Amino acid sequence: KTNKSTILITGGAGFIGANFIPYFMKKHPDYTIINLDKLTYAGNLLHLTEVSDSPNYHFIHGDITDEQLVTTIFNRYDIGGVIHFAAESHVDRSIEDANHFIQTNVLGTMVLLQIAKNDWQRKRQLQHRRFHHISTDEVYGSLGEKGKFTETTPYNPRNPYSASKAGANMLVKSFGYTYGMDVVVTSSSNNYGPKQHDEKLIPTIIRKALKGEAIPIYGDGSNIRDWLYVSDHCGALDLVFHHGKSLEKYNIGGSNEQTNIAIAKKVCHILDELTPESKRENGLSSHGELITYTKDRPGHDQRYAVDDQKIRTELGWKPVEDFHTGLQKTIKWYIRQWAKSKVH
Ligand code: NAD
Repeated sequence: KTNKSTILITGGAGFIGANFIPYFMKKHPDYTIINLDKLTYAGNLLHLTEVSDSPNYHFIHGDITDEQLVTTIFNRYDIGGVIHFAAESHVDRSIEDANHFIQTNVLGTMVLLQIAKNDWQRKRQLQHRRFHHISTDEVYGSLGEKGKFTETTPYNPRNPYSASKAGANMLVKSFGYTYGMDVVVTSSSNNYGPKQHDEKLIPTIIRKALKGEAIPIYGDGSNIRDWLYVSDHCGALDLVFHHGKSLEKYNIGGSNEQTNIAIAKKVCHILDELTPESKRENGLSSHGELITYTKDRPGHDQRYAVDDQKIRTELGWKPVEDFHTGLQKTIKWYIRQWAKSKVH
């Protein structure tokens, strides 16, 4: 094996990581993957069963803020690159308590950067091994009706989660400027797809609808997000990790802006078609009747949208999943998943 082929992936048991690892291992069968994950409430190893028996996959249960552990990993394996997903990721939880967000998202990123920098510097590989930080469009703040975030939009985070991610992005870039480390940052819009934690918007809509319970939508449902199918995100990450320019940021979007209420209605409509029995059992003519407006989230950003021309023109990427088929696949995955967990 060349020393470039052992990749440390952090947070690989989370939503995007657990989609990315099987994708990445299939695309690069010669790579060895070290997945370091703390298995917080958001991590689930059952989402990685398709790779867990591979001799090229190693799981390490631990915390990215644990300097001793991260040092041991760098001593034991010749880490040729880092793809850093691990984070506390739920905005509502950050509003309740920002502590874990700063610990993991900011301090954890610093620990990884520092240990990778020291190891690669010692090996004279600082410019040849890449540190890729997975970030979010939320760092840019909130938009009015018009305009999109570009890579040069100044950061203006407005909740503790996005502030912690903006801080981490800046630290990553600073290691590039200060030490000449090869770093890249990608900021993607909202992902959807299989393996997302039940607490997030789309899984919540599906779960509540199938149980015949009220589907909570914040405020008047007019907040807009751009939605990206998770496998399109994985393709973009693979491209940036291998071909993106060092010290650059890349925005990754779905070209798919939707209000929260439109999402709820679309999901309900697909459920009406896929599971007419759940509609009947709950005495509904459509699952959409369950949509209920609730008190808005404090500081709720009105609209996010990213301009992703840069990754499209520089690296030839574009999202391919259609929103309707992406939602259908996602909903079918959750229905199968929950049916399995009822059986066991
Ligand atoms: P997630 O919450 O589903 O998963 C996070 C993973 O990180 C979990 O497996 C968790 O156990 C692990 N983790 C948390 N703290 C850790 C720690 N201290 N040490 C080691 N592991 C730890 O998150 P996700 O949705 O998969 O997001 C992954 C990354 O992508 C995050 O950095 C997030 O900010 C970013 N992102 C997510 C979205 C989205 O829509 N989900 C959009 C843009 C960017």
